Amino acid sequence: MFIRLMLVAVVFFSGIYSLSDSHASTTSQEDRVLLYDIFSEMIAVPTDTLNGKTPELVAAIVKRLLIAGVPQSYIHEIKHQQDMSNLVVRLPGATTGKRPILLMAHIDVVTAVTEAWTTNPYKLVEIDGYYYGRGTTDNKAGASILIANLIRYVKEGFKPNRDIIVVLTADEETTAGGISHLLSQHRSLIDAEYALNSDAGGGSLENGEYKVFGVQASEKVYLTFHLETHNPGGHSSVPGPENAIYTLAAALERISHYTFPAMLDEITQTYFLKSAQIKHGQEAHDMQKLAAGLNFEAAERLSRQSARYNAILRTTCTPTRLYAGHADNALPRSAKATVNCRILPGHSPDAVEAQLQKLADDKRITFTRDSPPVASPASPLTPHVLDTIEDLMLEKFPGASLVPTMSTGATDGLYVRNAGIPVYGVSAIFGDPHDSRAHGKDERIRIKSFYAASQYWYQLVKNLSSN
Ligand SMILES: [Zn+2]
Repeated sequence: MFIRLMLVAVVFFSGIYSLSDSHASTTSQEDRVLLYDIFSEMIAVPTDTLNGKTPELVAAIVKRLLIAGVPQSYIHEIKHQQDMSNLVVRLPGATTGKRPILLMAHIDVVTAVTEAWTTNPYKLVEIDGYYYGRGTTDNKAGASILIANLIRYVKEGFKPNRDIIVVLTADEETTAGGISHLLSQHRSLIDAEYALNSDAGGGSLENGEYKVFGVQASEKVYLTFHLETHNPGGHSSVPGPENAIYTLAAALERISHYTFPAMLDEITQTYFLKSAQIKHGQEAHDMQKLAAGLNFEAAERLSRQSARYNAILRTTCTPTRLYAGHADNALPRSAKATVNCRILPGHSPDAVEAQLQKLADDKRITFTRDSPPVASPASPLTPHVLDTIEDLMLEKFPGASLVPTMSTGATDGLYVRNAGIPVYGVSAIFGDPHDSRAHGKDERIRIKSFYAASQYWYQLVKNLSSN
């Protein structure tokens, strides 16, 4: 998830619900054991930035692939830094001239504060129908499913009608250097007609029933500004009218009263259309209005109702850090604020900066960008992809509704879209929407949801690479 913030998307985790285990029957015991072994091996290697053990994990996965009979020629380990290993595995398809499908996951995790956890975060532990461990949701379940299914395809001699590419990246949670390096230096190895990302999307349960099957088709653009002002400073016993902290605080105050205009695109309009069908009352009514086109009244009401709807409807900018002063008894010589923006795919970053400058309205304040924004066009809701996803969803998760989503946070998908490859976030992991523990303590995945998602992916990739 989200390098930068997370995602909202919607990654769900669950309470204990008595769902019938209809999927187990489609996954042999041998396949379940294979998937479990891969998953527990992945969780046991701490691949956060502090430990930097992605080379160790990639070596373990490669060993397992070779033992399972996957030819060496299918396997590509690519380092973009000494301690950062990415893995690409290509299952060749029939030469039909169709471009490959790219299946995405990342193997790095956010550092776990071990002492805060109930279990050892780097050990897969089963408790009350859950697997606990750092990365169980974000995103080692996805990585394990992709590798286990690839081994199943090779073992059963499955011949897709195009190449199937699995990519596991090493630093989605920090700089996304892995996916950027692969796209810029090894494009031909991962080029594809479109990509499926296991690190976005996801399903929500309501009272044990399948409710929403989120398919992420776009993500907001991440951009951080540094607002800074300087002042000659001096002795704090003789303060003048000007103070760097006052100057900056006043500008932030002006920015705090501004809300960017609501905007809609194909993805968010469809999101509201589909969501209206499973919501009730005024909320559903407002969503119907937005599904029909921009309606400011409905947008304002929904924005007041939830920060998430607000973040889906408009660009947001908010201060996340403040730095000022160098001594208690000295006037501050500088004051600096970090303002983090999440920009709608269709909204120009330059226009956002110009608006913030206009609001700050103070020549003494300079604006600098932390890093250039990576534009990420929304992916089209291409019928043959979305219909295939939905048809299998109806079969595997009866009662669920497919809802296209825009993530307010970012994933590696941002860079893949930027490179011109449409991306669909389809983790297919169902859970309780109010129990998201990604990046937090006691991260866990519902066991039934994990195996159900693995069977869903197994069949989805076959369906998409057979027609
Ligand atoms: Zn992630």
